[in-house]
Amino acid sequence: QADMALFQAKRAGGDNLYFFDPVMQAQLHARARLEADLRQALPRNELLLHYQPQVDADRRLIGVEALVRWQHPERGMVSPGEFIPLAEENRLIVSIGGWVLETACRQLTAWAEDPVTADLTISVNVSPRQFREADFIERVLATLAHTGARPERLKLEVTESLFVHNRDEAHETMRRLKEHGVTFALDDFGTGYSSLSYLKRLPLDQLKIDQSFVRDVLEDEASAAIVASTIALSESLQLAVIAEGVETEEQRAWLVAHGCHAFQGYLFGRPGPVDSLPFQV
Ligand code: C2E
Ligand code: MG
Ligand code: MG
Ligand code: MG
Repeated sequence: QADMALFQAKRAGGDNLYFFDPVMQAQLHARARLEADLRQALPRNELLLHYQPQVDADRRLIGVEALVRWQHPERGMVSPGEFIPLAEENRLIVSIGGWVLETACRQLTAWAEDPVTADLTISVNVSPRQFREADFIERVLATLAHTGARPERLKLEVTESLFVHNRDEAHETMRRLKEHGVTFALDDFGTGYSSLSYLKRLPLDQLKIDQSFVRDVLEDEASAAIVASTIALSESLQLAVIAEGVETEEQRAWLVAHGCHAFQGYLFGRPGPVDSLPFQV
């Protein structure tokens, strides 16, 4: 069959010899279709936000992380792990990220009217590509202004990859947004490039301990050491710290014993629609 494909490619291309791999061709085709569909996702209203609870040591809801979902008409729910990397390769992430920010800010404004929800924060993931857009600061400020959301309630999650190149520029963007009250969390901490001396200078508010370390904290000494030192580091840098991916009571107890008092994970709630949020877990 591969020979046949090669033969046909050769004929179609005249004298030129093409390397033609039907499996690769099929993958490229599927990808191109997904990308074409993703272009239509926003205009067709197929994106939605799920919110995952973040709780304190008393299991009270203190905030949520906004996680984007794509309700594809034929494929069903497509996970962000599948379409965010695709969107990052072209400029689609900029419009998707803009929509996420807008939707989260509208939610903050709705919550501001009820004393029960007024103090909640929303953490929004920001891709490096989106963050580096020339008008990123203006877009965030304009979104806050026209939705009426309080900047102090908006937390932007960035990853270490943002600081590998042009770190002074990233630093400056964060500093300017912080002047307006927006806060920053460093997502997936420990999985990427980390220069501790640089971390000291970053205008951060919170470290998020990556779920891969939390998962193994009771079984693996290296993970336990990484989590314990991240908590200690956050204390000495006067940053807040939150553990991601907390799934068991044992993990929670270990984290509390080591000085971590904010948690996110299936133990407290899976990401879901806004009306499914528990206020006390
Ligand atoms: P993330 O920002 O690190 O988000 C945490 C991921 O861990 C989420 O996956 C969440 O559902 C999952 N999770 C939470 N608690 C647990 C747990 O206890 N156990 C396990 N095994 N997993 C848990 P999700 O929703 O599939 O999102 C995956 C990634 O996609 C996110 O990782 C984030 O990097 C990206 N992403 C999601 N929404 C957005 C967005 O609006 N913009 C951008 N740029 N990226 C997004
Ligand atoms: Mg995140
Ligand atoms: Mg994370
Ligand atoms: Mg992650």
